[in-house]
This record gives sequence, structure tokens and C-alpha cells, in this order.
Amino acid sequence: MADLNPLRLDGRHILVTGASSGIGRRTALMLHALGASLSVVDRDEAGLASLDAEFCAGNGVARQVADLSDIAGIEELVSRCVAAGGKLHGVVHCAGIQEIMPVRTLQIDGWRRIFAVNTEAALMLGKCLSSKKVYAGHHGSIVFISSVMGMVGSAGAVAYSMSKAALDGMARSLSLELAPRGIRVNCIAPGFVRTPLFEQTERLWDEATRKAVEDLHPLGFGEAEDVAHAVAFLVADTGRWITGSTLVVDGGYLAR
Ligand code: NAP
Repeated sequence: MADLNPLRLDGRHILVTGASSGIGRRTALMLHALGASLSVVDRDEAGLASLDAEFCAGNGVARQVADLSDIAGIEELVSRCVAAGGKLHGVVHCAGIQEIMPVRTLQIDGWRRIFAVNTEAALMLGKCLSSKKVYAGHHGSIVFISSVMGMVGSAGAVAYSMSKAALDGMARSLSLELAPRGIRVNCIAPGFVRTPLFEQTERLWDEATRKAVEDLHPLGFGEAEDVAHAVAFLVADTGRWITGSTLVVDGGYLAR
């Protein structure tokens, strides 16, 4: 008889980046509640430590503090995750940065800083999971958090849009390479979601701008949990025939 809850993740070890805050934090809590053991990664050590109080049962979670813009260090980071929690079934890359930078003021260092975390770290994590030393060999799933900004433009978001559009394209090709190994690769493209990253952007708006941006979302702004639900769907067996896709989770932002 088929599993009555195909969202269950018992026995699977998932690495979640950006787990201290926002979408990554909510995702870590949800995957753990569904039965997964976790390696949670972030550069914010205090944020990671504060997660302990929120896990329904604190076991099966290993914290790893790391700066993911150090791309060369990711292989060693993933090895530490495997040493602590066993081989991995999946990776969810939620760590990301967004800086509003008009092209006039955009500097090479600025766009490379965004590209490193949002895109290159994702590729390195996917490359690491494909290794026999790392991959558990079944139920493989990689989810990258992209953005609607990879599909539509926004003034001041040149570097961010570039990083997310590249992420979507990279994921499609990676999905074809990793399908024979049973590893699925997908992106989720959220609209505006209430998180600390969003609040950073919101602070730059007056009330009229905030309302205009919210009105672009027929269902209003999203919550981190809305994205975490979609991640769980793609990581679990509910997503077992989905690869190379970018799932839009945007309250209708792109429907116009
Ligand atoms: P968030 O609340 O700022 O959480 C991101 C987490 O990633 C933070 O804990 C951050 O640490 C960490 N991080 C950033 N750079 C890192 C690095 N180099 N190494 C390790 N950890 C790092 O952001 P969020 O809103 O949840 O965003 C998560 C993802 O969703 C991002 O990829 C973002 O682009 C995407 N997204 C968000 C929205 C939205 O409206 N919120 C919309 C579309 C897409 P610090 O606090 O130290 O920076």
C-alpha cells in the first residue's frame, strides 16, 4: 500500500543553508518536523544556536557555521556535514543576499559578492552532492531558492536578477546531469516574502511604495512558511517526478 503521507522524510539527511533566518529557518523547522535529520548552515552563529529552542525534538540536527561566499571551502564544509550526520539525501540552498544597487553605482566587487552566495555556492553544493562520498544514493533532491527577479526585471536589481536567472539556468542543466544518479534538481522562485531580508528592502520604501509593491501580489505578501511548504513538496516523494523546474511561489505576482 502506498505511503499515506508522502511528505514524510524519516531517515533522510538534508543540508539546509541560510537556516538562521527567514525562508531557510522556516524550511529547516518544517523538514525536521517531517522527520528529516539536518545539517543546518549559516554564517550567523547565534541565529543557528537559537534554532534549538524551536525544534520539536532537538536530536538529528548538526549546526555548521560557514561563510558560503568562500566557494573553495564548501567541499570541506559538506564533508563535515557528512561526518556529523551521515551521507546526504538532499540540499536546500536558502542562503542569499540582495542589495539594491543602481547600475550607475554597481561595482565589480558588489555584483561578484551577490553572485558568489546566490549562484556559485549553489553550484558547488550541487557538485558536492553528486559525489559518491557525499550522496546517500537514493531520494536525492536539490532545491535552490531563486526569485521572480530572475524572470522579470526591477530597477536596481541588476546583480540580484543576474544571480537568480543564472541559478535557474544552472539548475536545469544540473538536473539533466544528475537525473541518472536519481538526484532531482529544482528551483523555487518566490515573490516578496516577509523575512529580515525583505524588511531590509521595505525600510527603503515610503508607505505608498510599500502598498504599490504589495498590490503587485494578488494574494498579498508571502510568509516564509509558504516557501517552506513548497520546499518540502519538492524534497519529499511528492516531488519525485519533478526535476529541472522552477516552481513559482509568488501570490500571483507573475500572473499579470
Ligand atoms: P534572510 O532572512 O536574510 O536569510 C538568509 C540567511 O542566509 C541569513 O541568515 C544570512 O545571514 C544567510 N547568509 C547570507 N549570506 C551568507 C553567506 N555568505 N554564508 C552563509 N550564510 C549566509 O533572507 P530570506 O528572505 O529568507 O531569503 C532566503 C532566500 O530567498 C535568498 O536566496 C533570497 O534571495 C530568496 N528570496 C527571498 C525573497 C523575499 O522576499 N524574502 C524573495 C525571493 C527570493 P546574514 O543575516 O548574516 O546575512
